[in-house]
Amino acid sequence: MPELPELEALRIRLAPRLEGNVITAATVNPKKAHMLRYPVEHFANELPARRIVSLVQRGKHLVFGTELGGGGSPRWLVINPMLGGRFQIVGGDAPVPATEVFTIRIEGRQELRYLDFRDMGRIYWVSDCDREVPGWPALGPEADSVPEMGLEVFRKRLRRFRDELKDLLRNQEFLAGIGNAYSDEILFEARLLPLRRRASLKPKEEEALYEAIPVVLKRAVEAILANPNYDESKQDRSFMAVHMKGGKTCPRCGHRISQLGSNREPLNFCRGCQL
Ligand SMILES: [Zn+2]
Repeated sequence: MPELPELEALRIRLAPRLEGNVITAATVNPKKAHMLRYPVEHFANELPARRIVSLVQRGKHLVFGTELGGGGSPRWLVINPMLGGRFQIVGGDAPVPATEVFTIRIEGRQELRYLDFRDMGRIYWVSDCDREVPGWPALGPEADSVPEMGLEVFRKRLRRFRDELKDLLRNQEFLAGIGNAYSDEILFEARLLPLRRRASLKPKEEEALYEAIPVVLKRAVEAILANPNYDESKQDRSFMAVHMKGGKTCPRCGHRISQLGSNREPLNFCRGCQL
């Protein structure tokens, strides 16, 4: 599932090709129309003639801001790709894959396609995210905004939660944008075991967590953007240190990396250097 770094890298790649451009047509694949949390005919009728004015990542969503005419009637296309959602920008003559959910044609003969091979993604077309996107008002600050928050505010926020560290990092009310993969990586970076309870953290360990979050997220965005062959639809995470590396050797201490949970949703960590 794409998390903050994948969505942020995607945003950085897509934004220059989309922002400022007018949507000329929108079509929905009838077999996938159930994924739209909005009547299909409205979607196809209301998007054309709108200008894409912004593209932002919020939590695990990508948010396309649109306006009609000179800044009128703003509406947002909000997409949570969940487990199998991917985006593609292609020339209009590229073949349409069977996983296509919708296509937005952009001036300049480009197409933005949303594909989903698990049919779990959620698509909203709204005038007010807070009121119309479930869970939106409860989202915590973006995980990459931790440095601006400062250590003391972070500590206070952290101490409001009682979860085990793994669950805490995945809790979107604590920080938005981190899921199963990056929570493993952040805890490895901070040298903390995932099943530790938050209340067991010493002040130094809270600080290690505070520092690890932006380091891991920033490094991941850079790794994704630096890979010229990065295929957004395949979501290569080979640069990770422990996630999906159960049984392999820890790059820091040489111990064997542990795995709990299923192969699809593993929890990975190193007993040798995480405490
Ligand atoms: Zn280790």
